[in-house]
Amino acid sequence: MTAGKNRQIVLAARPVGLPKAEDFRLVETPVPEPGPGEMLVRARWLSLDPYMRGRMSDAPSYARPVAIGEVMVGAVVGEVVRSSHPDFAAGDVVEERLGWQEYAISRGREARKVDPTLAPISTALGILGMPGLTAYFGLLEVGRPRPGETVVVSAAAGAVGAVVGQIAKIGGCRAVGLAGSKAKVDYLVGELGFDAGVDYKTADLHAALAVACPRGVDVYFDNVGGRITEAVSRHVNPFARVAVCGLISQYNLEKPELAPRNERFVLVNRVRIQGFIVSDFYARRDEALRQLAEWLRQGRLKYREDVVDGLEKAPAAFIGMLQGKNFGKQLVRIA
Ligand code: NDP
Repeated sequence: MTAGKNRQIVLAARPVGLPKAEDFRLVETPVPEPGPGEMLVRARWLSLDPYMRGRMSDAPSYARPVAIGEVMVGAVVGEVVRSSHPDFAAGDVVEERLGWQEYAISRGREARKVDPTLAPISTALGILGMPGLTAYFGLLEVGRPRPGETVVVSAAAGAVGAVVGQIAKIGGCRAVGLAGSKAKVDYLVGELGFDAGVDYKTADLHAALAVACPRGVDVYFDNVGGRITEAVSRHVNPFARVAVCGLISQYNLEKPELAPRNERFVLVNRVRIQGFIVSDFYARRDEALRQLAEWLRQGRLKYREDVVDGLEKAPAAFIGMLQGKNFGKQLVRIA
């Protein structure tokens, strides 16, 4: 028997605009008992990601929304407490979408074993997890940069964007990042090795992009959409590629802005714009994770985490992340 209570955060209401604290509710339930073939996982780290905003809404999307009263969706890294699953034993560390809760039952089908000797286990939610894979496949398979080209990435100091710029550098490209503060831009250039950065909140975007991208933009890795995308569009070169990864500037708007009027730049420059979802590439997940881990080991990739302590802090941290208060991969440490 597992003594004690399980704490969970459930969706209390569908947000209108930016989510607020009352859209979430903390509830206590008994720690569940694993049945035959199942395991009980105790969460150590919870990942907070922008896609969760989409799941809180019931607008049609590529995934089902969280129901009112249901545990919020989210990936955790945790420890197997008890298992009758043939492939997992007590003490194993796993990563799986088990939700915003301290304990969960897993049937193991989507659980990934995490090797704690490779890197801190929290990285399985960041650079060695879904965000790292998003950067890897989105840049290399959708953006397809060639050495010497200029790669621009938005939300560049975040979990995905920081990896995009560093992989661009490994590939011999010029990396330019857009981020929302001077501290973030200084980090991109000073610590991650980007060639240039632009604080999109204070800069004259067109002038700053012209300086940062003297040879124009060959690949734009778009995490934000809206006016930033419109500005970058004006600087693209012939045969540029735009990898549409996310539209975070639009997620909390009740009425999304009109899409940038991009027909002319697409036509004149023969631009290819392609959206993607990271799971499209999961057949090649192990190969990509091996490569990311190798670059990390060689010191060619760096990462930064923004950690809050305690499940009860998750809603505020999530709301903060949607506003750019995070600096690096947003995580919740669960004691
Ligand atoms: P981040 O760690 O980058 O956190 C989100 C960041 O978005 C904030 O820190 C903030 O940075 C920036 N931001 C918020 N509002 C705005 C705005 N109005 N304009 C510009 N920037 C804004 O999150 P992730 O790295 O996890 O995700 C980045 C993007 O990638 C998101 O759009 C997400 O939905 C997408 N994504 C897509 C996947 C896919 O499969 N297609 C998979 C994973 C992520 P700042 O301070 O710079 O403003």
